[in-house]
Amino acid sequence: MKPPLQELIRGLSDVVFPPVCVHCRALVEPATPEGGAHPFRHLCSRCAAQIDYVCSPHCSTCGHPFYGVVEGERMCVKCEGLEPAFREGRTAVLFKGPVRALVIELKYHRGLHVLADMEEIFRRSPELMAAVRGATLVPVPLHPRKARERGYNQAMLLANALGRAAGGDTRVAPLLRRTVDTQTQTAFDRRTRMANLKNAFALTRGAAINPALHYILVDDVFTTGSTLNSCARALRRAGALNLDVVTLGHG
Ligand SMILES: [Zn+2]
Ligand SMILES: [Zn+2]
Repeated sequence: MKPPLQELIRGLSDVVFPPVCVHCRALVEPATPEGGAHPFRHLCSRCAAQIDYVCSPHCSTCGHPFYGVVEGERMCVKCEGLEPAFREGRTAVLFKGPVRALVIELKYHRGLHVLADMEEIFRRSPELMAAVRGATLVPVPLHPRKARERGYNQAMLLANALGRAAGGDTRVAPLLRRTVDTQTQTAFDRRTRMANLKNAFALTRGAAINPALHYILVDDVFTTGSTLNSCARALRRAGALNLDVVTLGHG
């Protein structure tokens, strides 16, 4: 239940700036055809219906769904050779269409307002929320230069949204820092770059790992998994034993 003042302000701002769908630019309808409140603020009902929620069975490393019958093997072909330093990876939805539009809005257009819709996506993934509840969420850090440039770390904001959606005593702890600036790496060849990125993360000063806790690395999108795996290695080196990965999307 939202406080009445917040509802009133939202109502007024909707009159002045009617919310527009970030994916198709249509106006976002305030209510569903069934008469309930439309759950998304920045996706119209047509685009929201295109979101692909991931269900079991899925790859145990990246979370990509397996379609059809799955026997034995739990890792997808794309993840072979990754040698994950984490136990399991899960993703809420597939990174395409409307979800891609939300992420682009957040990362490149300073669209912090779409976080509420991302939180709603997490809320609609009950299996994922059960796996996250009670964990310590560790956002993938940005290099300080990038963080200054952007003004915020989207993975940190996303971890907060995930923590709110999961509820319970889920908490967010920015335990990692990025020690290698990815953009200054473009001068090196691919092999050198990969070697440098392998140890691109370290614990933040003064941070400590409690081996009894369940840690979950959080990022917006799972692509190759190499960044998340570098983060996982840093947490492992520091003593984390119970370590998983969660992303909003898989792309
Ligand atoms: Zn739309
Ligand atoms: Zn996979």
